[in-house]
Amino acid sequence: MPVEVISGKECIVRNSSIFSRFGTKAMIVTGRSSAKINGSLKDVIEALDKEGIDHCLFDKVMSNPTIECAYEGAVMAKAEVVEFIIAIGGGSPIDGAKAMALLARQAIAEEDLFGGKYDEDALPLIAVPTTAGTGSEVTQYAILTNDRAETKSGLATPLIFPKVAFLDGRYMAGLSAEITVNTGIDALSHAVEGMLSVRKSFMSDVLATHSIEMIMSTVDTMKAALEQNSAAVFSENDRDTLLKASMLAGMVIAHTGTTAVHAMGYSLTYYRHIDHGRANGLLLGHYMQLIEKEEPQVIEVILDAMGLQTSQQFVELMDDLFGNKEVMAQEELNRYAGKAIVTGNINNCIVKPTEQELKAVFETAFC
Ligand code: NAP
Ligand code: ZN
Repeated sequence: MPVEVISGKECIVRNSSIFSRFGTKAMIVTGRSSAKINGSLKDVIEALDKEGIDHCLFDKVMSNPTIECAYEGAVMAKAEVVEFIIAIGGGSPIDGAKAMALLARQAIAEEDLFGGKYDEDALPLIAVPTTAGTGSEVTQYAILTNDRAETKSGLATPLIFPKVAFLDGRYMAGLSAEITVNTGIDALSHAVEGMLSVRKSFMSDVLATHSIEMIMSTVDTMKAALEQNSAAVFSENDRDTLLKASMLAGMVIAHTGTTAVHAMGYSLTYYRHIDHGRANGLLLGHYMQLIEKEEPQVIEVILDAMGLQTSQQFVELMDDLFGNKEVMAQEELNRYAGKAIVTGNINNCIVKPTEQELKAVFETAFC
């Protein structure tokens, strides 16, 4: 995990000299509005000004960023002759910026974008996460909406690991209860799926266990925040805990990748616009119950880290957090199972599910 992680209050302005390592002109990449409101963009601009670094702003990254958006940002990076990129936001702007960093330095046709064969060249990237969920600040993945394949596809290369990540929980003070919960459960899903991956190791399990414990320590606060529909229920300490736990879970998937849960969730997001974290959360408990049949000890270790006795308790906890579920027709869910079963994620599962089993997971989750 080659990312230099700097964390703590005001870490960006206090460590402004780090930016000057990467050149004299940067492109800042953000979503449409949150970075302008939560103080993160202001701090980055202050740090750049302090170091005499010029910048331009690409503030058009939408949630679940499209391939077109990545190409558009790369055009701007080239036209402005920037030497590095600073991504501020949730996973969407960070992932969009990762693709831009690659596309700004090499011509890649759209059909080859997810092919994995790239020249050894990308603009350096600095990441400032403002959600605690994807862990994208410490991964080599960029997930883009792929309309050709009617799903979300992952670009994966060590070239897009951020060089530096700045973690300051203050930027999340106004993050709504709903997005905090969705993103927090995405991070939980990364940690759990890491423990259910064939690529897991002693180290990834250590990181995953700690991440699960940290996220679960905030679950009561998550429930209270949703009930009161208030971001303010989360203390500064809760925000820090979630941000660090999400980074740890990102480190886990940088090693292990994700599993069938993410592969299944992508269809829910692509076709039904269900938020990424919510999609994973609605499926995760049912998937754990499937794996439990063959690998009960692994699930026991996960439940232990969660402070729960049974996987049914976890299913109920997710149902409690996510409230009313979307109505899905069986036919539709079967189609999503068919799409998930042909993904590379399936080979990454310690117990390889069949298409029938994926259908059953969807069915118990939604019907
Ligand atoms: P997101 O799509 O980046 O952001 C969701 C919403 O939260 C946006 O409306 C955003 O507003 C707002 N927001 C962000 N930070 C905020 C803050 N501090 N205060 C208030 N509002 C804030 O959501 P995400 O869940 O973090 O990222 C999801 C994406 O990451 C998906 O595309 C998913 O597939 C991907 N992902 C990537 C990895 C990886 O390893 N690369 C892993 C898992 C998931 P603005 O648009 O105005 O900023
Ligand atoms: Zn995820």
